[in-house]
Amino acid sequence: MSLSEIQSHIAKAEVAAGRPAGATQLIAVSKRQPDDRVLEVLEQGQQLFGENQVQEAAGKWPAFRARYPEAKVHLLGPLQTNKARQAMGLFDAIHSLDRPKLANTLARLAQEEGHCPDLFVQVNTGEEEQKSGILPADADAFVAECRALDLPIVGLMCIPPVDEEPSLHFALLAKIAARNGLEGISMGMSGDYERAVALGATHVRVGSAIFGARAS
Ligand SMILES: *Cc1c(COP(=O)(O)O)cnc(C)c1O
Repeated sequence: MSLSEIQSHIAKAEVAAGRPAGATQLIAVSKRQPDDRVLEVLEQGQQLFGENQVQEAAGKWPAFRARYPEAKVHLLGPLQTNKARQAMGLFDAIHSLDRPKLANTLARLAQEEGHCPDLFVQVNTGEEEQKSGILPADADAFVAECRALDLPIVGLMCIPPVDEEPSLHFALLAKIAARNGLEGISMGMSGDYERAVALGATHVRVGSAIFGARAS
């Protein structure tokens, strides 16, 4: 699908849900995509991108950004504390703040560096063993803990279980965000971004629908 088709699907879903035009930002997830495809999408005017790994982003984004200085890159994948400093220098936002240890590390580095990317707390809405994220029941306390550390928490993020209707998870995430006074809601991927827009997503993370299948 082309970038413009996806943008028009998002626009239609916003109208259908009675949300203002432009309420949802499209993050083009460029992980494991060939550079020429990413450049095509940059050339079409897309400015917001998502990556899964610090290492991969560090390898490709400095060169892309030299050519497209207005491009912004968000980290979507898990972050090890030993890569946190590098991540803070590379990304405009981090969607995977998923544990107290990482919050403490980011808070310390933010003090040292005098800046911090926008942060989304990842919530494990499906309470899956193998998935990272804060459990829904612990989310309010964790957001409060992060705020006490002066971290710039702007929203919540979730990745619903693959075999369940995502709308239930999207609705739960939106509810937790609302009761914590958080505006950002990062949810929805290639297969379900319109449902996410319907339920209040401010950021949808779309990879394969824009770029095609990824290299594995
Ligand atoms: C890869 C990835 C996406 C994009 O997935 P697609 O199905 O290709 O749209 C979105 N969010 C996260 C966290 C991802 O890792």
